[in-house]
Amino acid sequence: MSAELVAAWLRAAAQAIHARRDWLTELDAAIGDGDHGINLDRGFELVAARLELVQPGDVGAGALLQEAGRIVLGSVGGASGALYGRAFARAGATIVSKRESVAGPVDAVVRALDAAADAIATLGRAAPGDKTMIDALDPARRAMRTSASEGRAFGEAVARAAAAADAGAAATFPLVARRGRASYLGDRSRDHLDPGAASMAILLRALADTVGAR
Ligand code: ADP
Ligand code: MG
Repeated sequence: MSAELVAAWLRAAAQAIHARRDWLTELDAAIGDGDHGINLDRGFELVAARLELVQPGDVGAGALLQEAGRIVLGSVGGASGALYGRAFARAGATIVSKRESVAGPVDAVVRALDAAADAIATLGRAAPGDKTMIDALDPARRAMRTSASEGRAFGEAVARAAAAADAGAAATFPLVARRGRASYLGDRSRDHLDPGAASMAILLRALADTVGAR
């Protein structure tokens, strides 16, 4: 996993979040407090600005992801700032460690997604089916793991993970929220997409697009 790929992904993610900012905010307005798109866009804009200052080769892939996590944690705010911040930091830590750096990119992303999902599940006390960002991330990490065991190429593996995340996000529509602000609505959270699952799917799609473009 190269720092260049992580940087390209973070830039693509910042653009994709910016393009969908208003939609994410509308989703959050329906079952939350209407800040998700605005918050994430602010955070990713700062991440992208930081990348401008980093020279290629100055910093490793894992350290870059950890740095992005710190910026997200410090700037996004709300539940998702803490959750994404921790997830990026933990994902980065799996790439930093020497043992992981010898793994191929598919295995590296398997471990990074596992670490991110574990971090969010632990910090948010969220499980699949609770109508949160986990509902997009968990199927993606499972798809990634399956692709690894099937020996798939990196591009196809991340494309499958992104498709799994899209399907997982779409599947939050009929669910009743059990975590986060939307859970305060009880049954009225039904028949809406979860904003965090939607943003998670956008981030994973940006990864697939980034790898696919290489
Ligand atoms: P806030 O709810 O503080 O305004 P955001 O609007 O930025 O935060 O993000 C809301 C999203 O965060 C939700 O759609 C959900 O996906 C995710 N989320 C909220 N609470 C939790 C939690 N406890 N565990 C996992 N994800 C959560
Ligand atoms: Mg909100």
